[in-house]
Amino acid sequence: MSRFISITILLFSVISCENSTRIENVVIIGGGLMGSSTGWELSKNGQKVLLLEQQDSIYTFGSSFGEARISRSLGPKHDIFSYLQQMSIAETKGLIVYLNESENGKRHSMDDIYRTSPVTYIRYKSQEEEVNLLLEDQEDQYEYAPDREHARMLFGMEIPDSVMIIREYKEYSGTLNPKALISKLHMGMVYAGSTILYNEKVISLKKVNTLYEIQIENTKTGKRRTILSKKMVAAAGPYNGALVEMIAPHFKRLITPKRLFLAFLKIDPAIYNSLSNEQKDRIKQSYPVADINSDIFYSMIENYDENGVPILKVGGHFLRTDIHDLDEVWKQELDMQEIEWSKENTLNYLRMLDLPVQDEDLQFIRGYSCVYSLTESEIPYVTNTITNNMEVDSTFVLVGGMSGVGAKGSLAYGFIASNLLLNKTDSSAMYQKTLHDLSTGRLLRDLNNLNHATY
Ligand SMILES: Cc1cc2nc3c(=O)[nH]c(=O)nc-3n(C[C@H](O)[C@H](O)[C@H](O)COP(=O)(O)OP(=O)(O)OC[C@H]3O[C@@H](n4cnc5c(N)ncnc54)[C@H](O)[C@@H]3O)c2cc1C
Repeated sequence: MSRFISITILLFSVISCENSTRIENVVIIGGGLMGSSTGWELSKNGQKVLLLEQQDSIYTFGSSFGEARISRSLGPKHDIFSYLQQMSIAETKGLIVYLNESENGKRHSMDDIYRTSPVTYIRYKSQEEEVNLLLEDQEDQYEYAPDREHARMLFGMEIPDSVMIIREYKEYSGTLNPKALISKLHMGMVYAGSTILYNEKVISLKKVNTLYEIQIENTKTGKRRTILSKKMVAAAGPYNGALVEMIAPHFKRLITPKRLFLAFLKIDPAIYNSLSNEQKDRIKQSYPVADINSDIFYSMIENYDENGVPILKVGGHFLRTDIHDLDEVWKQELDMQEIEWSKENTLNYLRMLDLPVQDEDLQFIRGYSCVYSLTESEIPYVTNTITNNMEVDSTFVLVGGMSGVGAKGSLAYGFIASNLLLNKTDSSAMYQKTLHDLSTGRLLRDLNNLNHATY
């Protein structure tokens, strides 16, 4: 019953806004993890938000597409990414409470979004100094195998002499499901009185005097109309640069979209079923994994097939290629080299796990292309923009340049974006450090560097 009511509220909210001509308070472009998190955080703060998403409510592409992302905390002292992950978890707990209260039930849980499991890091002897720094006064729980004997004893792994293994154990470290999270964020927004329009693509965006003029086109009917708004959030992932060109042209130069691939593999079901329960459990305990080699191979269990065989998602953080057409890149098939790379690295890891899996036992199920939005430092932006007169425009926030790190900190980025737009802050040292790295001061520094590089 409560499900029926929520769907009805959602539909009503979407339909009732169709003919609106009022001036919006805040418009957000993009309903991926970043736009949705910002939308929720603003709605929670009493703002009536209009979120525009060019896709249907069921996504088929975008950086947030899929059902698993690594959620991990382990970092050196004062690491902003650990901080962002922890803040995002705390904010997500708040969202779950809000949804259950709104529905007067207990339908929603953190486990719908997070799958807690150990996170394994493969490091190399050449990185020993970095590893020592990482583990010094480390507050997160971990186990460390600096050599073969410890790896065998602690994890039942057979590793080469050059390798060291770290395993992180923390609640809500493991993987998170972007599809489930986005769906709950949208529900939260609607319950709080905000509106989401799907199939509405922003085709032009400019600022006229104090108002944003946003032209949108319905992707199903082709119908166009213009929306006015006092404030604006750009969270269009890899489309951000082109989209905000008339308001903040610098972002096109500061954020570069690059193609990556994801491959989905599984162990031949006959072989998988012949494994002992202990071996199957070893697989479960050993994903997700990040191999900090030059490509940064990472892999996680995306989900399980109908017979309970894990589907392994595989990618390479640094295996990036140029994009010729952003709208078409999502359909680009994987080439043989990419499939072979995925199989080789997976097999290498399964061998380290001492599992009897051969090359021919690994099945390639499917793959797709996806996109990272990259900044030069690989650190995201959550920032107001700077006008031509070098003034901070507090009516505009961009959340972007998320590379491969955004998902685990989703609601934290949304929290910061919402604070920037509402002129709120947090005096804690870590919050201020994070602002320093992501926000206006950083943008100014980057713009300075850009100008020096140009002239
Ligand atoms: C392959 C891959 C692996 C990753 N792995 C991890 C991981 O393990 N851990 C982790 O923490 N992070 C990971 N990330 C990063 C994380 O997934 C991204 O940082 C995050 O999804 C970015 O979300 P976004 O909202 O910025 O972008 P998107 O999800 O791309 O959202 C942008 C949205 O804007 C919409 N849009 C664009 N243009 C318009 C327009 N003109 N009008 C209306 N709507 C528009 C798009 O349709 C889209 O839905 C990974 C990313 C990728 C690509």
